[in-house]
Amino acid sequence: MIMKRRGFLAFSGAAGMGLALRETFGQMPGKGDKAFSGGEKPRITYEKRRLELFHPWTITRGTATYKENVFVYYNKDGITGVGEAGHMTAAGQNADRTIRELHPLIPLYRDTDPFQFYDLPEKAREIVPALSPAKAALDIALMDWIGKKLDIPVYQFLGIDPVSEVKTSFSIGRDKPEVMKQKVKEAAPYKILKVKITGQGDKEAIRAIRSMTDKPIRVDVNEGWTDKEKAIREIRWLAAQGVEFVEQPMPVDMLEETRWLKERSPIPIVADEAVNTSKDILRIKDAYDGINIKLMKSGGLIEAYRMTLLARLFNLDIMLGCMIETTVAIAAAVQLQALARWVDLDGNLLIKNDPYTGLTLKDGHWVMSGKPGIGVEER
Ligand code: MG
Repeated sequence: MIMKRRGFLAFSGAAGMGLALRETFGQMPGKGDKAFSGGEKPRITYEKRRLELFHPWTITRGTATYKENVFVYYNKDGITGVGEAGHMTAAGQNADRTIRELHPLIPLYRDTDPFQFYDLPEKAREIVPALSPAKAALDIALMDWIGKKLDIPVYQFLGIDPVSEVKTSFSIGRDKPEVMKQKVKEAAPYKILKVKITGQGDKEAIRAIRSMTDKPIRVDVNEGWTDKEKAIREIRWLAAQGVEFVEQPMPVDMLEETRWLKERSPIPIVADEAVNTSKDILRIKDAYDGINIKLMKSGGLIEAYRMTLLARLFNLDIMLGCMIETTVAIAAAVQLQALARWVDLDGNLLIKNDPYTGLTLKDGHWVMSGKPGIGVEER
């Protein structure tokens, strides 16, 4: 495979140390490898890359000006598939942990025929039971490789219409009302705004946005409300401000209270923290109107696709969400966009030095390149 010298050097320079960012686990099949039905075994490599953010990103533990994501390359038959891991810092995820989790997962992918991927999510879960973006990075790289091998885009492989005019929302970071007003101005190209509820100055924040624009607003509470009576009052107020839906209003384990809320809420209640994989859907299906599917939670496209099937079966609306991710992981999620009622895929828009291209924002919605695999190319 081609070494991506530019990215490698950029990172080493920034980190100021000569870390070996790539480690090759792949190997050519030996004489004893006849049991492998997929021909030549893949070479699977990875690298950590530093992504500079347009705006400092405020998280529970402080403020970040850059993110480190991990890229996985699945190389076989002269074709390279690329995948990416973005991290939920609040859940203790980071690039180094992802790399540690990749190590035991890589042999599974190396030893599995790429066209026999059905059991991979379960097998990966046996090896790394925790929520891990390492699983997503491997899965996306494999799906990209399969598409390229078949010379078709992944959406076509999955039987999904590539065209969707569902517009993506764009997150407005919480700040003083004056700063938020400026951010709303800068978000002019985006048609829907998303804002987090923090428990402090929330009404002022919503009012600040409303004083600038009548665009739809989406609100993410991140499990912040523990009193259902207070929650319904807040939701009614938000609905009157033109808020489209409320994401994860109550803690994951307050399922009965959330169901109570859903029965009374004038706007949809969407599960995020409450649903990671399809296994969670059965448990939560009566308490929410929709589910936020994120590749970094599901462990990739295979499981995300299964989740869309289950969501439809149980009449749950589908939302597609993301972490701070480059065009690689965002383009992977966009493959599913025609299945979604709500799209919240803005992670790549927050990155200054996105190393990949392949997506265009047209009138607020994503248009894919139509190239094979996930349709991305390195700049
Ligand atoms: Mg959320």
